[in-house]
Amino acid sequence: MPLARPIVFGNWKMYGLRADSRARAEAVAAFARPDHGTVGVFPPFTVLREVVEVVGDRPVVVGGQDCHDRPEGAFTGSISPVMLRDAGAGAVIVGHSERRHGLGEGDDFVRRKAAAARAAGLLVVLCIGETEEEYLAGRRYEVLDRQLAGSLPEGAGPEDLVVAYEPVWAIGTGRTPTLEEIREIHGWLRRELARRLAGGAEVALLYGGSVKPDNAAGILAQPDVDGVLVGGASLDPGQFRHIYEAGGAGR
Ligand code: PEP
Repeated sequence: MPLARPIVFGNWKMYGLRADSRARAEAVAAFARPDHGTVGVFPPFTVLREVVEVVGDRPVVVGGQDCHDRPEGAFTGSISPVMLRDAGAGAVIVGHSERRHGLGEGDDFVRRKAAAARAAGLLVVLCIGETEEEYLAGRRYEVLDRQLAGSLPEGAGPEDLVVAYEPVWAIGTGRTPTLEEIREIHGWLRRELARRLAGGAEVALLYGGSVKPDNAAGILAQPDVDGVLVGGASLDPGQFRHIYEAGGAGR
């Protein structure tokens, strides 16, 4: 079933010990409403199981921040999609820029991770986005086109894929593209996904990069923006709630 809009996902990155992660998860579960879009959190692996337990049967998606492309094996330090599923996760982020650019992960590896995550029954949140250098050189669409061609998993559709456009230069910087740019890029993404995947026009599209309480409503109001992927502001449940509620109900 397609995810209810607006979708508000929080990437906790490498922040959170057990006690504060439990408190953060409890706060999100307390404001999540079954009649208001889809809210999700992506905690560090070490607290994922606790977050699953805190959330219980309340309507909060819990996901991993990354996974390997194999179900098991001699891959020290890695976590497989099957393990995430076993821990109670329902989703996973793949291709985040902090892994693509920070750790040198390429499109093909990202595509294999996404395929493995789908096979394990996880919702895939596939991140794409250009660097500042690429943006300034006018290569945004060329980069997005290459990332889609290289990392979209074959056969994916609205029930198991979400695509997040996250310009690298907007992540954690307080800078965002203009609303016009966000509208234009998400319109382009919608057309590209429709062309590349059966059912691709229904795949949910997120914007990510310095989403805060004061810019969330404007971003979420853009026609092809189905939701947002929030980093820093998702660590503060008050800010995260504000962003969740900025989307309005029933879109
Ligand atoms: C992210 O990490 O995906 C992100 C969008 O971070 P921030 O909101 O802090 O820019």
